Amino acid sequence: MRKIQNKHIVVIGAAKSGIAASLLLHKKGADIFVSDYGVISSDAKQKLKKAAIPFEENGHTDKARSAEFAVVSPGVPTESPIVQHYLNNGKEIFSEIEVASWFTDHKIIAVTGSNGKTTVANWLDHVWKIAKREHSLAGNIGVAFSDKVEANKGDFLLEISSFQLDHIKDFKPAVSIILNITPDHLNRYGNSLEAYAASKFRITENQTEDERFIFNYDDPTIKKHIETLKQKQKAPQLWAFSNENEVPEGAFIRNEHIIFKFNNKEEPLMPVEEIGLRGRHNVSNGLATALAARAAEIKNEAIRESLRTFTGVEHRLEVAREVNGVKYINDSKATNVNAVWFALDSFHVPVTLILGGRDKGNDYSDLEAQIREKVHTIIAIGESKDRVQEQLGKITPNFVRVETMGGAVRAAQKVAKRGEVVLLSPACASFDMFDSYEHRGKIFKEEVDKL
Ligand code: ADP
Repeated sequence: MRKIQNKHIVVIGAAKSGIAASLLLHKKGADIFVSDYGVISSDAKQKLKKAAIPFEENGHTDKARSAEFAVVSPGVPTESPIVQHYLNNGKEIFSEIEVASWFTDHKIIAVTGSNGKTTVANWLDHVWKIAKREHSLAGNIGVAFSDKVEANKGDFLLEISSFQLDHIKDFKPAVSIILNITPDHLNRYGNSLEAYAASKFRITENQTEDERFIFNYDDPTIKKHIETLKQKQKAPQLWAFSNENEVPEGAFIRNEHIIFKFNNKEEPLMPVEEIGLRGRHNVSNGLATALAARAAEIKNEAIRESLRTFTGVEHRLEVAREVNGVKYINDSKATNVNAVWFALDSFHVPVTLILGGRDKGNDYSDLEAQIREKVHTIIAIGESKDRVQEQLGKITPNFVRVETMGGAVRAAQKVAKRGEVVLLSPACASFDMFDSYEHRGKIFKEEVDKL
Protein backbone atom coordinates (compact mmCIF):
# COMPACT_ATOMS: atom_id res chain seq x y z
CA MET A 1 0.00 0.00 0.00
CA ARG A 2 1.19 3.52 -0.77
CA LYS A 3 2.24 5.74 2.13
CA ILE A 4 0.09 8.84 2.07
CA GLN A 5 0.18 9.82 5.76
CA ASN A 6 0.70 13.61 5.94
CA LYS A 7 1.49 13.77 2.23
CA HIS A 8 0.36 16.92 0.48
CA ILE A 9 -1.99 15.86 -2.31
CA VAL A 10 -4.02 18.05 -4.65
CA VAL A 11 -7.30 16.81 -6.09
CA ILE A 12 -8.15 18.48 -9.39
CA GLY A 13 -11.85 18.58 -10.20
CA ALA A 14 -14.50 18.52 -7.49
CA ALA A 15 -17.18 16.40 -9.14
CA LYS A 16 -18.41 13.14 -7.60
CA SER A 17 -15.23 11.10 -7.94
CA GLY A 18 -12.94 14.00 -6.95
CA ILE A 19 -14.90 14.57 -3.76
CA ALA A 20 -14.94 10.85 -3.00
CA ALA A 21 -11.15 10.58 -3.47
CA SER A 22 -10.58 13.67 -1.31
CA LEU A 23 -12.66 12.32 1.56
CA LEU A 24 -11.00 8.90 1.40
CA LEU A 25 -7.44 10.28 1.27
CA HIS A 26 -8.23 12.74 4.04
CA LYS A 27 -9.56 9.95 6.22
CA LYS A 28 -6.36 8.00 5.60
CA GLY A 29 -4.31 10.89 6.92
CA ALA A 30 -3.24 12.81 3.80
CA ASP A 31 -3.10 16.59 3.63
CA ILE A 32 -5.62 17.38 0.87
CA PHE A 33 -6.31 20.49 -1.18
CA VAL A 34 -9.10 20.52 -3.75
CA SER A 35 -8.97 22.80 -6.79
CA ASP A 36 -11.57 23.21 -9.51
CA TYR A 37 -11.31 25.18 -12.75
CA GLY A 38 -15.04 25.94 -12.57
CA VAL A 39 -17.72 26.30 -9.92
CA ILE A 40 -17.98 23.67 -7.19
CA SER A 41 -21.54 22.58 -6.39
CA SER A 42 -22.90 23.58 -3.00
CA ASP A 43 -23.41 19.93 -2.10
CA ALA A 44 -19.71 19.20 -2.78
CA LYS A 45 -18.61 22.29 -0.84
CA GLN A 46 -20.62 21.19 2.14
CA LYS A 47 -18.92 17.79 2.17
CA LEU A 48 -15.47 19.39 1.99
CA LYS A 49 -16.28 21.90 4.74
CA LYS A 50 -17.63 19.16 6.98
CA ALA A 51 -14.35 17.26 6.64
CA ALA A 52 -12.35 20.52 7.01
CA ILE A 53 -10.70 20.03 3.61
CA PRO A 54 -9.55 23.35 2.06
CA PHE A 55 -10.55 24.09 -1.54
CA GLU A 56 -10.59 26.71 -4.28
CA GLU A 57 -12.86 27.19 -7.31
CA ASN A 58 -13.02 29.20 -10.56
CA GLY A 59 -9.39 28.54 -11.41
CA HIS A 60 -6.17 26.92 -10.20
CA THR A 61 -3.81 29.08 -8.13
CA ASP A 62 -0.24 28.17 -7.11
CA LYS A 63 -1.73 26.24 -4.21
CA ALA A 64 -2.93 23.67 -6.74
CA ARG A 65 0.58 23.21 -8.12
CA SER A 66 2.57 22.42 -4.98
CA ALA A 67 1.56 18.84 -4.18
CA GLU A 68 3.68 15.68 -4.24
CA PHE A 69 1.19 14.23 -6.66
CA ALA A 70 -2.24 15.08 -7.99
CA VAL A 71 -5.47 13.15 -8.39
CA VAL A 72 -7.51 14.16 -11.45
CA SER A 73 -11.18 13.82 -12.25
CA PRO A 74 -12.02 11.96 -15.45
CA GLY A 75 -13.37 15.24 -16.85
CA VAL A 76 -9.95 16.94 -16.79
CA PRO A 77 -8.06 16.45 -20.09
CA THR A 78 -4.41 15.35 -19.93
CA GLU A 79 -3.50 18.39 -22.08
CA SER A 80 -4.83 20.86 -19.50
CA PRO A 81 -2.09 23.18 -18.13
CA ILE A 82 -2.49 21.98 -14.55
CA VAL A 83 -1.98 18.30 -15.48
CA GLN A 84 0.91 19.26 -17.75
CA HIS A 85 2.48 21.23 -14.88
CA TYR A 86 2.69 18.07 -12.79
CA LEU A 87 3.87 15.86 -15.61
CA ASN A 88 6.53 18.36 -16.74
CA ASN A 89 7.88 18.46 -13.19
CA GLY A 90 8.24 14.71 -13.06
CA LYS A 91 5.35 14.35 -10.63
CA GLU A 92 2.67 11.71 -10.82
CA ILE A 93 -0.98 12.09 -11.73
CA PHE A 94 -3.48 9.48 -10.60
CA SER A 95 -7.12 8.83 -11.32
CA GLU A 96 -9.62 8.22 -8.58
CA ILE A 97 -9.89 4.45 -9.28
CA GLU A 98 -6.12 4.13 -8.88
CA VAL A 99 -6.27 5.89 -5.51
CA ALA A 100 -9.22 3.84 -4.26
CA SER A 101 -7.48 0.61 -5.24
CA TRP A 102 -4.62 1.35 -2.80
CA PHE A 103 -7.00 0.83 0.09
CA THR A 104 -8.61 -2.51 -0.67
CA ASP A 105 -7.52 -6.12 -1.05
CA HIS A 106 -10.91 -7.25 -2.26
CA LYS A 107 -11.31 -8.76 -5.69
CA ILE A 108 -12.03 -6.24 -8.47
CA ILE A 109 -14.14 -7.12 -11.50
CA ALA A 110 -13.79 -4.18 -13.88
CA VAL A 111 -15.67 -3.56 -17.12
CA THR A 112 -14.87 -1.07 -19.84
CA GLY A 113 -15.76 -0.56 -23.51
CA SER A 114 -17.33 2.04 -25.79
CA ASN A 115 -20.89 0.78 -25.29
CA GLY A 116 -22.57 -1.50 -22.78
CA LYS A 117 -20.55 -0.72 -19.64
CA THR A 118 -23.51 0.32 -17.50
CA THR A 119 -25.61 -2.57 -18.77
CA VAL A 120 -22.92 -5.14 -17.93
CA ALA A 121 -22.03 -3.56 -14.57
CA ASN A 122 -25.69 -3.78 -13.55
CA TRP A 123 -25.98 -7.27 -14.98
CA LEU A 124 -22.99 -8.35 -12.85
CA ASP A 125 -24.68 -6.80 -9.84
CA HIS A 126 -27.76 -8.90 -10.65
CA VAL A 127 -25.69 -12.12 -10.87
CA TRP A 128 -23.88 -11.43 -7.63
CA LYS A 129 -27.24 -10.81 -5.93
CA ILE A 130 -28.70 -14.06 -7.24
CA ALA A 131 -25.57 -15.94 -6.20
CA LYS A 132 -25.87 -14.24 -2.77
CA ARG A 133 -22.30 -13.00 -2.93
CA GLU A 134 -21.26 -9.90 -0.99
CA HIS A 135 -20.29 -7.10 -3.37
CA SER A 136 -20.29 -3.38 -4.13
CA LEU A 137 -21.29 -1.88 -7.47
CA ALA A 138 -19.35 1.34 -8.14
CA GLY A 139 -17.23 3.37 -10.55
CA ASN A 140 -18.48 5.37 -13.48
CA ILE A 141 -22.01 4.54 -12.46
CA GLY A 142 -23.03 7.23 -9.98
CA VAL A 143 -21.23 5.93 -6.89
CA ALA A 144 -17.46 6.36 -6.88
CA PHE A 145 -15.15 3.43 -6.08
CA SER A 146 -13.62 5.56 -3.27
CA ASP A 147 -17.04 5.93 -1.66
CA LYS A 148 -17.35 2.17 -1.23
CA VAL A 149 -13.84 1.20 -0.19
CA GLU A 150 -14.38 1.37 3.55
CA ALA A 151 -17.78 -0.31 3.87
CA ASN A 152 -17.25 -2.99 1.23
CA LYS A 153 -17.13 -6.60 2.37
CA GLY A 154 -17.03 -8.54 -0.88
CA ASP A 155 -16.07 -8.20 -4.54
CA PHE A 156 -15.96 -4.85 -6.28
CA LEU A 157 -17.95 -4.65 -9.51
CA LEU A 158 -16.66 -1.55 -11.29
CA GLU A 159 -17.71 0.31 -14.40
CA ILE A 160 -14.58 2.00 -15.74
CA SER A 161 -14.22 4.71 -18.39
CA SER A 162 -11.11 5.13 -20.50
CA PHE A 163 -10.47 8.51 -18.87
CA GLN A 164 -10.09 6.76 -15.53
CA LEU A 165 -7.66 4.29 -17.07
CA ASP A 166 -5.49 7.12 -18.42
CA HIS A 167 -3.97 7.68 -14.99
CA ILE A 168 -3.60 4.30 -13.33
CA LYS A 169 -0.38 2.79 -12.06
CA ASP A 170 -1.03 -0.24 -9.87
CA PHE A 171 -4.76 -0.75 -10.52
CA LYS A 172 -5.11 -4.49 -11.01
CA PRO A 173 -8.49 -6.18 -11.49
CA ALA A 174 -8.82 -9.91 -10.83
CA VAL A 175 -11.16 -9.95 -13.82
CA SER A 176 -11.15 -7.29 -16.51
CA ILE A 177 -13.57 -6.97 -19.43
CA ILE A 178 -13.43 -4.98 -22.68
CA LEU A 179 -16.82 -5.12 -24.40
CA ASN A 180 -16.02 -3.32 -27.65
CA ILE A 181 -13.96 -0.44 -29.04
CA THR A 182 -15.69 1.91 -31.47
CA PRO A 183 -15.08 5.61 -32.16
CA ASP A 184 -16.22 7.75 -29.22
CA HIS A 185 -14.50 10.53 -27.25
CA LEU A 186 -11.76 10.56 -29.88
CA ASN A 187 -11.30 14.30 -29.34
CA ARG A 188 -9.63 13.37 -26.03
CA TYR A 189 -7.23 11.00 -27.80
CA GLY A 190 -5.85 13.20 -30.58
CA ASN A 191 -8.53 11.77 -32.92
CA SER A 192 -6.73 8.45 -32.83
CA LEU A 193 -8.70 5.21 -32.45
CA GLU A 194 -5.35 3.55 -31.66
CA ALA A 195 -4.70 5.86 -28.71
CA TYR A 196 -8.24 5.35 -27.43
CA ALA A 197 -7.88 1.56 -27.76
CA ALA A 198 -4.52 1.62 -26.00
CA SER A 199 -6.10 3.53 -23.15
CA LYS A 200 -8.84 0.91 -22.80
CA PHE A 201 -6.25 -1.89 -22.85
CA ARG A 202 -4.55 -0.38 -19.83
CA ILE A 203 -7.21 -2.25 -17.83
CA THR A 204 -4.99 -5.33 -18.38
CA GLU A 205 -1.68 -3.53 -17.69
CA ASN A 206 -0.96 -4.98 -14.25
CA GLN A 207 -2.66 -8.33 -14.71
CA THR A 208 -0.62 -11.55 -14.67
CA GLU A 209 -1.45 -15.20 -15.31
CA ASP A 210 -3.33 -15.29 -12.00
CA GLU A 211 -5.90 -12.85 -13.43
CA ARG A 212 -8.37 -13.07 -16.30
CA PHE A 213 -9.13 -10.83 -19.22
CA ILE A 214 -12.50 -11.23 -20.93
CA PHE A 215 -12.80 -9.71 -24.39
CA ASN A 216 -14.99 -9.45 -27.47
CA TYR A 217 -13.62 -11.87 -30.06
CA ASP A 218 -15.64 -10.24 -32.85
CA ASP A 219 -14.17 -6.76 -32.44
CA PRO A 220 -11.37 -6.09 -34.97
CA THR A 221 -9.67 -3.38 -32.90
CA ILE A 222 -9.62 -5.58 -29.81
CA LYS A 223 -8.32 -8.54 -31.82
CA LYS A 224 -5.34 -6.51 -32.99
CA HIS A 225 -4.41 -5.57 -29.45
CA ILE A 226 -4.81 -9.14 -28.21
CA GLU A 227 -1.91 -10.17 -30.43
CA THR A 228 0.29 -7.57 -28.72
CA LEU A 229 -0.97 -8.62 -25.29
CA LYS A 230 0.02 -12.25 -26.00
CA GLN A 231 3.61 -11.13 -26.64
CA LYS A 232 3.91 -9.60 -23.18
CA GLN A 233 5.95 -11.46 -20.61
CA LYS A 234 3.22 -11.04 -18.06
CA ALA A 235 -0.26 -11.38 -19.43
CA PRO A 236 -3.61 -12.42 -17.97
CA GLN A 237 -5.43 -15.60 -18.97
CA LEU A 238 -7.58 -14.82 -21.97
CA TRP A 239 -11.27 -15.66 -22.16
CA ALA A 240 -13.09 -14.60 -25.31
CA PHE A 241 -16.79 -14.20 -26.05
CA SER A 242 -18.42 -14.20 -29.45
CA ASN A 243 -21.83 -14.53 -31.00
CA GLU A 244 -20.36 -15.09 -34.46
CA ASN A 245 -17.47 -17.54 -34.06
CA GLU A 246 -16.43 -20.38 -31.85
CA VAL A 247 -13.67 -19.25 -29.50
CA PRO A 248 -10.66 -21.23 -28.23
CA GLU A 249 -11.49 -20.46 -24.57
CA GLY A 250 -14.54 -18.65 -23.24
CA ALA A 251 -18.15 -18.44 -24.41
CA PHE A 252 -19.82 -18.70 -27.80
CA ILE A 253 -23.04 -19.67 -29.58
CA ARG A 254 -23.62 -22.95 -31.41
CA ASN A 255 -27.05 -24.00 -32.71
CA GLU A 256 -28.70 -21.20 -30.75
CA HIS A 257 -27.13 -22.43 -27.51
CA ILE A 258 -24.63 -20.67 -25.28
CA ILE A 259 -21.55 -22.86 -24.80
CA PHE A 260 -18.79 -22.35 -22.25
CA LYS A 261 -15.40 -23.74 -23.22
CA PHE A 262 -12.55 -24.03 -20.74
CA ASN A 263 -9.43 -26.20 -21.02
CA ASN A 264 -10.83 -27.72 -24.22
CA LYS A 265 -13.94 -28.93 -22.40
CA GLU A 266 -17.33 -27.69 -23.53
CA GLU A 267 -20.27 -27.05 -21.21
CA PRO A 268 -23.65 -26.17 -22.72
CA LEU A 269 -25.13 -23.35 -20.64
CA MET A 270 -28.58 -22.47 -22.02
CA PRO A 271 -30.56 -21.52 -25.15
CA VAL A 272 -29.77 -17.98 -26.37
CA GLU A 273 -33.46 -17.11 -26.63
CA GLU A 274 -33.83 -17.42 -22.87
CA ILE A 275 -31.68 -14.31 -22.32
CA GLY A 276 -33.95 -11.68 -20.81
CA LEU A 277 -32.77 -8.71 -22.92
CA ARG A 278 -33.40 -8.16 -26.62
CA GLY A 279 -30.76 -7.46 -29.25
CA ARG A 280 -27.59 -9.07 -30.52
CA HIS A 281 -25.49 -6.63 -28.49
CA ASN A 282 -27.17 -7.89 -25.35
CA VAL A 283 -26.19 -11.45 -26.24
CA SER A 284 -22.59 -10.17 -26.22
CA ASN A 285 -23.19 -8.32 -22.96
CA GLY A 286 -24.74 -11.45 -21.45
CA LEU A 287 -21.81 -13.65 -22.53
CA ALA A 288 -19.33 -11.18 -21.03
CA THR A 289 -21.32 -11.11 -17.79
CA ALA A 290 -21.54 -14.90 -17.69
CA LEU A 291 -17.77 -15.29 -18.17
CA ALA A 292 -16.99 -12.77 -15.43
CA ALA A 293 -19.33 -14.63 -13.09
CA ARG A 294 -17.67 -17.90 -13.99
CA ALA A 295 -14.23 -16.38 -13.40
CA ALA A 296 -15.44 -15.49 -9.91
CA GLU A 297 -16.48 -19.14 -9.46
CA ILE A 298 -20.20 -18.50 -9.45
CA LYS A 299 -22.15 -21.65 -10.28
CA ASN A 300 -23.67 -22.13 -13.74
CA GLU A 301 -27.12 -22.48 -12.16
CA ALA A 302 -26.95 -18.93 -10.76
CA ILE A 303 -25.50 -17.64 -14.05
CA ARG A 304 -28.38 -19.17 -16.00
CA GLU A 305 -30.97 -17.67 -13.72
CA SER A 306 -29.33 -14.25 -13.91
CA LEU A 307 -29.19 -14.28 -17.70
CA ARG A 308 -32.90 -15.14 -17.79
CA THR A 309 -34.13 -12.61 -15.27
CA PHE A 310 -32.15 -9.42 -15.89
CA THR A 311 -34.52 -6.71 -17.13
CA GLY A 312 -32.00 -4.10 -18.25
CA VAL A 313 -31.28 -0.53 -17.27
CA GLU A 314 -33.44 2.58 -17.75
CA HIS A 315 -32.87 4.56 -21.00
CA ARG A 316 -31.25 1.57 -22.76
CA LEU A 317 -33.77 0.05 -25.17
CA GLU A 318 -36.35 0.48 -22.44
CA VAL A 319 -39.96 -0.20 -23.37
CA ALA A 320 -41.71 3.02 -22.34
CA ARG A 321 -45.29 2.09 -23.23
CA GLU A 322 -47.47 0.44 -25.83
CA VAL A 323 -50.17 2.67 -27.35
CA ASN A 324 -52.63 1.30 -29.94
CA GLY A 325 -50.33 -1.64 -30.62
CA VAL A 326 -47.26 0.56 -31.17
CA LYS A 327 -44.27 0.03 -28.86
CA TYR A 328 -42.46 3.22 -27.79
CA ILE A 329 -38.82 2.50 -26.94
CA ASN A 330 -36.57 4.82 -24.95
CA ASP A 331 -32.91 4.40 -25.97
CA SER A 332 -31.86 7.91 -24.94
CA LYS A 333 -28.47 6.58 -23.80
CA ALA A 334 -27.60 5.84 -27.44
CA THR A 335 -25.26 8.79 -27.76
CA ASN A 336 -23.19 7.40 -30.63
CA VAL A 337 -23.87 5.83 -34.03
CA ASN A 338 -22.78 2.34 -33.00
CA ALA A 339 -25.39 2.15 -30.23
CA VAL A 340 -28.11 3.15 -32.72
CA TRP A 341 -26.89 0.47 -35.13
CA PHE A 342 -27.40 -2.20 -32.45
CA ALA A 343 -30.74 -0.71 -31.43
CA LEU A 344 -32.02 -0.99 -35.03
CA ASP A 345 -30.48 -4.42 -35.34
CA SER A 346 -32.62 -5.67 -32.47
CA PHE A 347 -35.98 -4.93 -34.17
CA HIS A 348 -37.58 -6.94 -36.93
CA VAL A 349 -40.65 -4.77 -37.51
CA PRO A 350 -40.99 -1.36 -39.24
CA VAL A 351 -39.49 1.45 -37.18
CA THR A 352 -40.08 5.19 -36.80
CA LEU A 353 -36.74 6.56 -35.65
CA ILE A 354 -36.29 9.74 -33.60
CA LEU A 355 -32.71 10.85 -34.19
CA GLY A 356 -30.54 13.88 -33.46
CA GLY A 357 -29.20 16.20 -30.78
CA ARG A 358 -25.72 17.58 -30.24
CA ASP A 359 -23.57 16.04 -32.94
CA LYS A 360 -20.05 14.78 -32.12
CA GLY A 361 -18.92 14.62 -35.76
CA ASN A 362 -21.10 11.60 -36.51
CA ASP A 363 -21.05 9.66 -39.74
CA TYR A 364 -24.69 8.66 -39.97
CA SER A 365 -24.11 6.79 -43.21
CA ASP A 366 -23.00 3.77 -41.12
CA LEU A 367 -26.71 3.37 -40.38
CA GLU A 368 -27.81 3.41 -44.00
CA ALA A 369 -28.30 -0.31 -44.55
CA GLN A 370 -30.24 -0.78 -41.30
CA ILE A 371 -32.40 2.25 -42.04
CA ARG A 372 -33.19 1.23 -45.62
CA GLU A 373 -34.30 -2.16 -44.37
CA LYS A 374 -36.46 -1.13 -41.41
CA VAL A 375 -37.11 2.57 -40.97
CA HIS A 376 -39.97 4.23 -42.88
CA THR A 377 -39.79 7.58 -41.08
CA ILE A 378 -36.92 9.53 -39.58
CA ILE A 379 -37.91 12.28 -37.19
CA ALA A 380 -34.99 14.67 -36.74
CA ILE A 381 -34.61 16.70 -33.55
CA GLY A 382 -32.00 19.04 -32.13
CA GLU A 383 -28.95 20.82 -33.49
CA SER A 384 -27.95 18.06 -35.85
CA LYS A 385 -31.17 18.19 -37.94
CA ASP A 386 -29.38 19.56 -41.02
CA ARG A 387 -26.55 17.07 -40.91
CA VAL A 388 -28.96 14.16 -40.37
CA GLN A 389 -31.09 15.38 -43.29
CA GLU A 390 -28.05 15.82 -45.50
CA GLN A 391 -26.84 12.26 -44.88
CA LEU A 392 -30.10 10.33 -44.42
CA GLY A 393 -32.87 12.60 -45.74
CA LYS A 394 -33.31 10.79 -49.03
CA ILE A 395 -33.17 7.17 -47.96
CA THR A 396 -36.50 6.86 -46.11
CA PRO A 397 -39.99 7.44 -47.54
CA ASN A 398 -40.66 10.10 -44.85
CA PHE A 399 -38.36 12.63 -43.24
CA VAL A 400 -39.78 14.99 -40.63
CA ARG A 401 -38.09 17.87 -38.78
CA VAL A 402 -39.43 18.86 -35.36
CA GLU A 403 -38.44 21.35 -32.67
CA THR A 404 -39.45 19.55 -29.46
CA MET A 405 -39.63 16.05 -28.00
CA GLY A 406 -43.41 16.46 -27.74
CA GLY A 407 -43.50 17.30 -31.45
CA ALA A 408 -41.37 14.25 -32.21
CA VAL A 409 -43.60 11.86 -30.27
CA ARG A 410 -46.80 13.27 -31.84
CA ALA A 411 -45.30 13.12 -35.33
CA ALA A 412 -44.30 9.50 -34.66
CA GLN A 413 -47.81 8.59 -33.52
CA LYS A 414 -49.19 9.87 -36.83
CA VAL A 415 -47.08 7.52 -38.94
CA ALA A 416 -46.51 4.40 -36.79
CA LYS A 417 -48.93 1.53 -37.36
CA ARG A 418 -50.07 -1.29 -35.09
CA GLY A 419 -47.27 -3.86 -34.56
CA GLU A 420 -44.56 -1.29 -35.25
CA VAL A 421 -41.96 0.41 -33.08
CA VAL A 422 -41.20 4.07 -32.35
CA LEU A 423 -37.57 4.28 -31.29
CA LEU A 424 -35.83 7.22 -29.64
CA SER A 425 -32.17 6.40 -30.32
CA PRO A 426 -30.54 9.78 -30.97
CA ALA A 427 -26.84 8.97 -31.80
CA CYS A 428 -26.05 12.34 -30.24
CA ALA A 429 -25.44 14.04 -26.92
CA SER A 430 -28.46 15.65 -25.29
CA PHE A 431 -27.10 19.00 -24.14
CA ASP A 432 -28.57 21.08 -26.97
CA MET A 433 -32.10 20.54 -25.61
CA PHE A 434 -31.78 18.72 -22.27
CA ASP A 435 -29.69 18.57 -19.07
CA SER A 436 -28.61 14.99 -19.69
CA TYR A 437 -29.55 11.82 -21.53
CA GLU A 438 -31.61 10.82 -18.48
CA HIS A 439 -33.57 14.07 -18.75
CA ARG A 440 -34.10 13.48 -22.50
CA GLY A 441 -35.39 9.94 -21.82
CA LYS A 442 -37.67 11.17 -19.04
CA ILE A 443 -39.24 13.85 -21.26
CA PHE A 444 -39.72 11.26 -24.02
CA LYS A 445 -41.55 8.98 -21.60
CA GLU A 446 -43.67 11.84 -20.29
CA GLU A 447 -44.67 12.78 -23.84
CA VAL A 448 -45.48 9.15 -24.62
CA ASP A 449 -47.61 9.01 -21.48
CA LYS A 450 -49.66 11.92 -22.82
CA LEU A 451 -50.68 10.06 -26.00
P1 ADP B 1 -22.15 2.70 -21.55
O1 ADP B 1 -22.24 2.66 -20.06
O2 ADP B 1 -20.89 2.06 -22.06
O3 ADP B 1 -22.44 4.01 -22.17
P2 ADP B 1 -24.81 1.51 -21.71
O4 ADP B 1 -25.02 0.16 -21.14
O5 ADP B 1 -25.26 2.69 -20.93
O6 ADP B 1 -23.27 1.68 -22.10
O7 ADP B 1 -25.49 1.55 -23.16
C1 ADP B 1 -25.30 2.69 -24.00
C2 ADP B 1 -26.01 2.51 -25.32
O8 ADP B 1 -25.37 1.48 -26.07
C3 ADP B 1 -27.47 2.07 -25.22
O9 ADP B 1 -28.16 2.69 -26.28
C4 ADP B 1 -27.42 0.56 -25.36
O10 ADP B 1 -28.62 0.03 -25.88
C5 ADP B 1 -26.25 0.40 -26.34
N1 ADP B 1 -25.45 -0.81 -26.07
C6 ADP B 1 -25.43 -1.56 -24.94
N2 ADP B 1 -24.55 -2.59 -25.06
C7 ADP B 1 -23.99 -2.49 -26.28
C8 ADP B 1 -23.02 -3.24 -27.00
N3 ADP B 1 -22.43 -4.32 -26.46
N4 ADP B 1 -22.70 -2.83 -28.27
C9 ADP B 1 -23.29 -1.74 -28.81
N5 ADP B 1 -24.22 -0.99 -28.20
C10 ADP B 1 -24.58 -1.35 -26.95
